[in-house]
Amino acid sequence: MQKLTIATSNPHKVEEISAVLGPLGIDCVALGRTDIPEPDEDGVTFEENARIKAVAYARALGETVLADDSGLEVDALGGAPGVQSARYAGLGATREERDAANNAKLLAALAGVPDARRAARFVCVLTIARPDGTIVAESRGTFEGVIGHVPRGANGFGYDPLLVLPDGRTSAELTSEEKNARSHRGNALRLIVPKLPR
Ligand code: IMP
Repeated sequence: MQKLTIATSNPHKVEEISAVLGPLGIDCVALGRTDIPEPDEDGVTFEENARIKAVAYARALGETVLADDSGLEVDALGGAPGVQSARYAGLGATREERDAANNAKLLAALAGVPDARRAARFVCVLTIARPDGTIVAESRGTFEGVIGHVPRGANGFGYDPLLVLPDGRTSAELTSEEKNARSHRGNALRLIVPKLPR
């Protein structure tokens, strides 16, 4: 089985990536080390930030790694929170607290905006880099919906309870299999598989 290190500290991302790549014979290994300083994600696009992370961790580990940069784009907010999605509200000590603060800020920003103008999408960009800093492969996936009025569902993470899908459920009301089959991350993974280094 081929091994691939996933350059993220987000356990939800590792689970979602492993669920798609594992059955294809790729053993996804989470970043085991905490001594590598997190690089500044100061890019203005998901592509730039995914490259920053992939190259920094590939160089530091001396291994080929896959990095994910993802977030939520809301049309009525000009694409915000976008690359700022993880730190949109800038509040909270734990991931769960930050997610709740981000969701509350998003609902407040969209107060009074009618359903017809609440279109949004998750975006995921994946980048694979080698230890010498060269980029081996990149892909982008999206997951379209509208922003609901109250959070619903207990699965997933981040803004999942607010993205309402065409069938009326939120992303947090999907099973992990259903989310992986339709999501931005699942779609980006399926696109990058044929480009994986052998
Ligand atoms: P990153 O870790 O810098 O890529 O930030 C990603 C942020 O975007 C997360 O903290 C979430 O707020 C949001 N996000 C990305 N993917 C998802 C998803 O699958 N569901 C819900 N929120 C997501």
